[in-house]
Amino acid sequence: MNTDSTQSSPVANPPEHDIVIIGGGPAGLTAAIYAARDKLSVLIIEKGIMGGLITEAERIDNYPGFPEGISGYEITSKMLQQAQLYGAQDVSGEVAAIERTEDGFLVQTAEASFPARAVIVASGSSHLKLGVPGEKEYTGRGVSYCATCDAPFFTGKVTAVAGGGNTAMSEALHLTKFAQRVYLIHRREEYRATPVVQEAVATNPKIELMPDTVIEAVEGDNCVRKLKLRHVLSGDSSGLMVNGLFVAIGLKPNTDFIKDLLDLDTAGAVVTGGNMATNIPGIFAAGDVRKFSVRQTVSAAGDGAAAAIAAKKWLEAL
Ligand code: NAP
Repeated sequence: MNTDSTQSSPVANPPEHDIVIIGGGPAGLTAAIYAARDKLSVLIIEKGIMGGLITEAERIDNYPGFPEGISGYEITSKMLQQAQLYGAQDVSGEVAAIERTEDGFLVQTAEASFPARAVIVASGSSHLKLGVPGEKEYTGRGVSYCATCDAPFFTGKVTAVAGGGNTAMSEALHLTKFAQRVYLIHRREEYRATPVVQEAVATNPKIELMPDTVIEAVEGDNCVRKLKLRHVLSGDSSGLMVNGLFVAIGLKPNTDFIKDLLDLDTAGAVVTGGNMATNIPGIFAAGDVRKFSVRQTVSAAGDGAAAAIAAKKWLEAL
């Protein structure tokens, strides 16, 4: 796995690449595989861990070709290997802006400006925050956004998960392998998670559902001790003693750095045409960052392939 420690550092005067891909998740890596295999020079810029948010997934059961399931870390490692096999390069850095030049683009990080003839934005999404008192303060001291990463720290402890989607329920199920009790706190009665996941949660004796309940504050001393809750129907307030809170309430597209350049929808996702083209010719978008993304690993990979093919056609037409 090529993580932060093995990604190259930016060079002083980077050479021009045919395509610079922003983001090294399934969308960016698949775009890299397709473009590099077509003999285009490709650079992937990734700000965090190569593989992106999906590296947090302990097991992906619905990626075609892996009937026994595969971890997010393993599948993205293989994607990266495949992209490198065809010559794609990668570098560590956080893109701050894309600037248009006479003959292409400059993709700018704090350390360097990378010239590109075309750009694929595959910058993915980030965890949404509850925005309640104590959440920020206790992040890393009991508040987490990744059960796959942090569940072992809660062995024998009492935990809560916030959310009612597939992520929240999968996180709750994973936590039961370690924690003695898992409260699933959801703001309404219906859950978004798919029926098969809901069934697994309903039959797990370690999980207690707390519907129609919101978290108003996270409290503790040096680490999390208690959640302040409110029942939305009765209005009653209560306290729940826990050692940890896993927040899994959805994702927001990582588009701050392009908000003044590309057309975004009200949720901040990049608006694209059918061929992944954005409003700026030569810039394409793929994966979670794109409007109408169904946020699956397989659809991100599909987007990446489509964006690479479209970018290649665009470069050929220049
Ligand atoms: P999601 O489906 O958008 O669910 C977010 C949950 O958080 C919803 O239950 C939502 O409640 C709740 N929520 C949102 N904002 C909140 C707030 N401010 N306070 C309290 N609760 C809040 O997000 P997700 O579970 O992360 O899933 C994202 C996408 O990835 C989905 O398309 C999902 O299917 C996919 N996914 C798939 C798999 C899989 O296929 N195995 C696994 C994980 C994720 P409301 O329902 O009331 O809005």
